[in-house]
Amino acid sequence: MSISLLNSERPAGQLDLRLQRIAQRVGAAGLVIVPCVIGMNASFGRITWIDLFEAAADIAVLSAIMIAALRSHLVRPALYSGLMLLFSIFWCASFGELHLGQVNATSFPLVLFIPVFLSLALDYRLLAALAPVQALLVFVYAHQYGAAFGAADSAGFDSVGIVYAVLSGIMVSLVAILAWIRQHSDDELIRALDEKDRLASTDSLTGLMNRRAFMDSLNALCANDSTFAVAFLDLDRFKPLNDQFGHAAGDAVLRELSNRLQQVAGVRAAARLGGDELAVALDPCLSGAELDQTIASLHAGLTRQVEWEGKSLLVGVSIGYATNVRDAQSLPTLLKAADTAMRRAKAHQSGWASFSAELDGAALDTHSPEIEFRSALARGDLRAAIQPIADAATLELVGYEILSRWTQCGLRQTPEPNEFIPIAERLGLLNELLWITLDETLRSGGLTPNRLAVNISPAQLQAPDFVDCFINLLKARAVDPACITLEITEQVAYRNIESNVQMLEKARRAGMTIALDDFGTGYSSLSMLDRLPLDKVKIDKSFSQRSGLSDRSDSILHASIRLAKQLNLTCCVEGIETEEAARKVRLFGADEIQGYWIGRPVLLEDSRQLFKRAS
Ligand code: C2E
Ligand code: CA
Ligand code: CA
Repeated sequence: MSISLLNSERPAGQLDLRLQRIAQRVGAAGLVIVPCVIGMNASFGRITWIDLFEAAADIAVLSAIMIAALRSHLVRPALYSGLMLLFSIFWCASFGELHLGQVNATSFPLVLFIPVFLSLALDYRLLAALAPVQALLVFVYAHQYGAAFGAADSAGFDSVGIVYAVLSGIMVSLVAILAWIRQHSDDELIRALDEKDRLASTDSLTGLMNRRAFMDSLNALCANDSTFAVAFLDLDRFKPLNDQFGHAAGDAVLRELSNRLQQVAGVRAAARLGGDELAVALDPCLSGAELDQTIASLHAGLTRQVEWEGKSLLVGVSIGYATNVRDAQSLPTLLKAADTAMRRAKAHQSGWASFSAELDGAALDTHSPEIEFRSALARGDLRAAIQPIADAATLELVGYEILSRWTQCGLRQTPEPNEFIPIAERLGLLNELLWITLDETLRSGGLTPNRLAVNISPAQLQAPDFVDCFINLLKARAVDPACITLEITEQVAYRNIESNVQMLEKARRAGMTIALDDFGTGYSSLSMLDRLPLDKVKIDKSFSQRSGLSDRSDSILHASIRLAKQLNLTCCVEGIETEEAARKVRLFGADEIQGYWIGRPVLLEDSRQLFKRAS
């Protein structure tokens, strides 16, 4: 699997470009110099057939270097082998001329300098190998040169030859050292630029691509003219996990899930887009059933437990995917489609969903839910709904839970509370929403009985004046705080538990009741019963809905109710949809019931002709 598809403009590539420019210059300069030298020699009448042979061979080699440089193909081997060939040709020609006696006083300095000049652009390893060869050739040349000129003292000429040979070898060695220094600093530069490149395109926590690099990789896939699918992944229950176990645990989960992500067959590129949002591009060859199968494996792989410091951490993941991209222009639409499908998967807790034009099309065309939510709140399109709560034994209504409803939504599918409450939380508008729905309920008056339950998220308790504001609002409407139940989830205990507990105790002192909502769905429900100041427990609807499926589920429901009773807490069971369920939980000892059988949540404004079932 290739995770990185990117970075054609790598630093190493820039150095290749430099080498290409050098090859071009060597080729061009050589192709000018060689004919000029031949021309000059010809004008002085000193041209020999060896000169012609040498010039022809040089031009052939230089042309090859030039062609390789212009075509950007095999530049390095062409340049290095070409220069070695020019070196060899020069020496062959020099010895040939020496043998034929076609040497003069200027020939000797030429063999000292021209080979060094020719080797300037070589790799340092080739230069190091060439240094002794050059020294040896100079020495042999000097020896034969002395003999050819009939030097009287041939031994003396040999010692001069040794000096020249050593100097020549040293010159090539110096060039080799300079080339090594340059190459070494180039390597350092490449490493530094590579690292900079890696950091700029990588998410430092997970090692996955970041958003920018991911977009580059999608563009690269588009450039290959392929149709491929993109999946958006958003972790479920990640924030509570972070709150409960701390950021180190959250980081460990993200790292582990990222590793797993990369191991799933069919994942072509994987990225962390930010927070707990991940994205993958899938192999272009995947479509239809194979694509669905890959997404299912992705989901199964990520929803396994993560072991961390002796604890088993579990988060869920919602995946949305979309396919059929044809060009880079349609990429943003593809990404938005996958994102929209992911939101549907999350809202319906279905694990994964493929983009459907029918279900998601309108959501795709509108603004983001965040923008819509803000303006809906300002327009008054967020309204209070109420759901009755009844006494389990007598079925008399004992109060109502206030639930928010988004009416008149510009999006095709009106978001449900499970979708817009997290948005309100992200935007810091939960208190605003609470005041609006509570005030609407209090203003309407006339609800009998007048006990009201409101849902409070942990973030709301963080504001130091939360309870005071609440009490002031009740005072303004002449409502006794004793009529109010605050429904909290055990997430309030994950972070700043001390201050949250103080806030809840203050509310209790003012007369309010505290209920632990969704009991049994969290990570550590039992210890919460001890740590939080509670009056009531609401057993999550999943328990009552599983009841009857097996003796075991019944036993769990029964035991949960008994536990609450033993702790002197009022016990309410949620999700009662049938008469049989109501009868059963009453027998198990529940004090209160809530659910569709008693009454569905209805908008406050429609609540008049309601709740007929309750006596
Ligand atoms: P919750 O507090 O557990 O509220 C009960 C949820 O169960 C409601 O969903 C209600 O419509 C649903 N429900 C009630 N009876 C039955 C039943 O018999 N069967 C089934 N299947 N479901 C039933 P809803 O209104 O979608 O709210 C979902 C959650 O959103 C609520 O869960 C609550 O935690 C949160 N929420 C709703 N409104 C607000 C709000 O104004 N502020 C805050 N902070 N949270 C809210
Ligand atoms: Ca509730
Ligand atoms: Ca609940």
